[in-house]
Amino acid sequence: MSPKITISAIHHITAITPSAAENLAFYENVLGLRLVKQTVNFDDPYTYHLYYGDNRGTPGTILTFFPWENLPQGVPGAGMVTAIAFAAPLRAFDFWRRRLERMTCDVKTGERFGDPVLHFADPHGLPLELIGQSEPPVTPHWRAGPVPAENAISGFHSATATLHHWPENRALFSSLLGMTLFKQAGNRYRFASGDTRAAGHFWDVVIDPQAPLGQQGGGTVHHIAFRAASDAAQLEWQSRLRAANISVTEVRDRKYFRSIYFHAPQRLLLEIATDGPGFSVDEDEAVLGASLKLPQSYEPMRADIERHLPPLRTSTQVPADTCAPTEPVPEDHSV
Ligand code: ZN
Repeated sequence: MSPKITISAIHHITAITPSAAENLAFYENVLGLRLVKQTVNFDDPYTYHLYYGDNRGTPGTILTFFPWENLPQGVPGAGMVTAIAFAAPLRAFDFWRRRLERMTCDVKTGERFGDPVLHFADPHGLPLELIGQSEPPVTPHWRAGPVPAENAISGFHSATATLHHWPENRALFSSLLGMTLFKQAGNRYRFASGDTRAAGHFWDVVIDPQAPLGQQGGGTVHHIAFRAASDAAQLEWQSRLRAANISVTEVRDRKYFRSIYFHAPQRLLLEIATDGPGFSVDEDEAVLGASLKLPQSYEPMRADIERHLPPLRTSTQVPADTCAPTEPVPEDHSV
């Protein structure tokens, strides 16, 4: 038996939006995340794949979107990540409450495991949270962004998945993926992954056997990726998943990292991605996200692809008075 290995933290989270330009306006101007890569969906090259993060797109800070223009609204539900939580300094909590109340539709204040939480949504209904922490993870702030360094978001705090049954998910995340069951309140279970200093090292599972399955569409999460420190660690995960009779893909080259994919119960799509090579592999850190980057195989199609993609930077502002109707997220009986 090989030694115990653990997932170190969240690597990235990928969600779906019906408008690339409105998406960019919100994540840059309101949350102050940096667009660190402008590329296309490698499986669907006539659509964008946008990556946001800290100044260099450190794993644990990366939120990515597939913008499928005018896609109908989805419904968050079981088998999905139903909330994405960012970390910010505790002393900046009021700054964010006032900023989000001014710039978004509906902000609610709560508390979870002793930390203050802001609940809000992006312009297309994606459920977001911001959690104040006395010692948030240290990540390089986007210096040219609109949020002062002392208040900046420092990657993910955690993400929450809604699932039906506890025993099978405990077995997956604890026994197989090596996470530690850290806290529980009501039907919310919090796992901590290996690196407590890393952004995104918490993973929450809300168990709700009655929750309807989510429907993928605008404003929902597509999948979540956890970190593998190296290619060797990724292959080790692949063989452990196979040994547990979980169907897992071959390693896929995503240019900025390498990935394997598999499903958790209720078809929650999970990925394990390598930390490297990172977003500076095809452009300098100073100009990350400034121009469209394509994998070599799509370069011959560049003119055609560029003709099909909608303009990213338009005069589009955050649509302050056009809040998406938010569907109620399955009930969370926790704190
Ligand atoms: Zn991914």
